[in-house]
Amino acid sequence: DERIAQIQEQLKSYPNFPKKGILFWDIFSILNKPDYYRLLRDILVEEAKKISPPIECVAGLEARGFLFGPLISLELNVPFVPIRKKGKLPGNLLSVCYSKEYGPDVLEIQEGSIEHGKRVLIIDDLLATGGTMVAGCHLIKKAGANVAACLVVIELEGLKGRDAVPDNVISLIKL
Ligand code: IMP
Repeated sequence: DERIAQIQEQLKSYPNFPKKGILFWDIFSILNKPDYYRLLRDILVEEAKKISPPIECVAGLEARGFLFGPLISLELNVPFVPIRKKGKLPGNLLSVCYSKEYGPDVLEIQEGSIEHGKRVLIIDDLLATGGTMVAGCHLIKKAGANVAACLVVIELEGLKGRDAVPDNVISLIKL
């Protein structure tokens, strides 16, 4: 897709961020150009519309999933639901523990925010090891809903995150 190649050209990376040895891909290098952000939104919406049977909810992973999830949910006229790090959401919560580089972390969702049995699209900016997306999938299932697909803008293919994720992964830019 020529459009994806155009977006990929805008993508900047930063060596040794947030720490030595890590190459950080910065999605904001696309968002600061409205023409490319719009193009990226259009492609993400197309991908979401292709999913069959249709998705019934979009869940965004904190924080950069929040930059894309609501754009998709509005176009498809389905609810947007945030999946957040521990301590950020009010009310009764469901939570899932997962391990990150420096130890355990927790993702949370508000109880009752997704109707049982709904087909949910989970979105994030980037798939690396897949740990975050796996935790997101578990949380959606804990809420009694189903994961229709996991959508990311960037997939770091060498880390094989896709193999860790129990559900279908759709990625636009493969690095
Ligand atoms: P994973 O859990 O190892 O797949 O890491 C994915 C999570 O870390 C996502 O929420 C990403 O936003 C974040 N992340 C990891 N590497 C990068 C990067 O190079 N750029 C932006 N976000 C990243």
